[in-house]
Amino acid sequence: MSLLSEPDLSSESDTSALEQQEEVAQSNKRVSFHTLGCRLNQSETDQLARSFKQQGYRVVPNTESADICVVNTCTVTEHSDAKNRQVIRTLHRLNPEAMITVVGCYAQINPEAIASIEGVRLVIGSEEKMRLTDFLEEAHSAKTALIIHPKITKNTFTAPVIPDRSAILAKIPVNQTKTVGQNWIPAHSVPQWDGATMTQKNTRASLKIQDGCDFMCSFCIIPFARGRSRYREFSNLKEEATMLVQEGVREIVITGVNVGTYQFGKLTIVDVIDFLNKLPGLARIRISSIEPTTVPEILFQYMKDEQHKLVPFFHLPLQSGSDSILKKMKRRYSATQYADEIMRAAETVPDLCIGTDVMVGFPQENAVEFENTFNLLDKLPLTYFHVFPFSARKGTPAFKMNEQISPQIKQQRSEILRNLSTKKRRAFHQQFLGQTRNVLWESRKPDGNISGYTDNFIRVVLEDDDGADLRNQLLPVQLNALNGQTILGKFVSS
Ligand code: SF4
Repeated sequence: MSLLSEPDLSSESDTSALEQQEEVAQSNKRVSFHTLGCRLNQSETDQLARSFKQQGYRVVPNTESADICVVNTCTVTEHSDAKNRQVIRTLHRLNPEAMITVVGCYAQINPEAIASIEGVRLVIGSEEKMRLTDFLEEAHSAKTALIIHPKITKNTFTAPVIPDRSAILAKIPVNQTKTVGQNWIPAHSVPQWDGATMTQKNTRASLKIQDGCDFMCSFCIIPFARGRSRYREFSNLKEEATMLVQEGVREIVITGVNVGTYQFGKLTIVDVIDFLNKLPGLARIRISSIEPTTVPEILFQYMKDEQHKLVPFFHLPLQSGSDSILKKMKRRYSATQYADEIMRAAETVPDLCIGTDVMVGFPQENAVEFENTFNLLDKLPLTYFHVFPFSARKGTPAFKMNEQISPQIKQQRSEILRNLSTKKRRAFHQQFLGQTRNVLWESRKPDGNISGYTDNFIRVVLEDDDGADLRNQLLPVQLNALNGQTILGKFVSS
């Protein structure tokens, strides 16, 4: 499973004063974006934002009023559905005149429910969502909410490659980029939903290479929400990667639902990585999440090679450590096969960070099966896990399974695993204290801190911060002290 969770690798997002002035000059039409769910959704929102900009719209932060509010939804759990509805209602309350447009997975699965929410004017399913701007006029003149919901095809796809002028503007000299701070959204005013408006790409960007999934795990709604697996044309993804690097992106995160299955003619994910590795200016390649059993072993060698840009990081969803539950989930491996893959990776790649997703409370999961999961997670060299209580999704085989687990037990089991994850992440961080590692620095955060990631996914907060703009620079720091789920680092004095 790639979509239940993604490593927290949200793209950087801020808007420079110059960029804003430039855009004000272009247009008075304002559009805001509200993204829920996974990294793939965020990358699709970024592309939508680009196409709006190209058509003269001004992209505004999602805390400001806008003429069009685009909500990119998620539907992996019941909780996601409720959150989508809550965001839509809040938006309508704050922007009663805005045209609310809803796209994404929930729009595919339940368009009528969305269309019935007050303020919604346009709902677009997965097949046509990237053509959103083509439907605005029709929706504007329609008397009721317009629903665009054709069948999802299985065709290879391309994505529009639209240069982001604002990103190029943002590459102005460092002393001027410091004005960015004036445009931060204060933490207290950020709404509850995830994903600030994406207006420029810098440090890190997603590269979507694949969509949909054929694996049909019994709990998963994604093959219905996003369709069956399909792949991006190789020349099209090369074009986007090249453009991103020209705009200043230093790290590309390979993104999709099931990226390990990528196939375009004879080309696979290894060819995508080979291409990126040769791209001048790019510093790092990261894979966002990849299904166990789909990882080409050569990637271990790439990660081991210090000169290679593929960083030592995997996110390999486990879901359960019990063979009986894995079978009911229709996962394609046993607990032993998963453990073998993790051990081979960890033994080959020094300092490797491995994250995983785990689901608790799958129907019929008993105490012993849960214990098997706990024990496996405990013994494997995993760095962290994202824990999800099972959520029954209508239309999936697991929805109808008997012996659903009570919410209290799911809650207890989630808590036990989350505590274990915190402990393991701390232990992973501990082993690097005193070492010096390169950090790719990001924009200053609203709390004033500047931070970035090491290659092996340790978030480092700068201790001896003199206020300089370090964004996009890959600089070594000494890792000094644990700081919650991050590490405090200092520049090494020469
Ligand atoms: S069907 Fe399985 S592999 Fe495919 S997205 Fe869902 S959980 Fe992941």
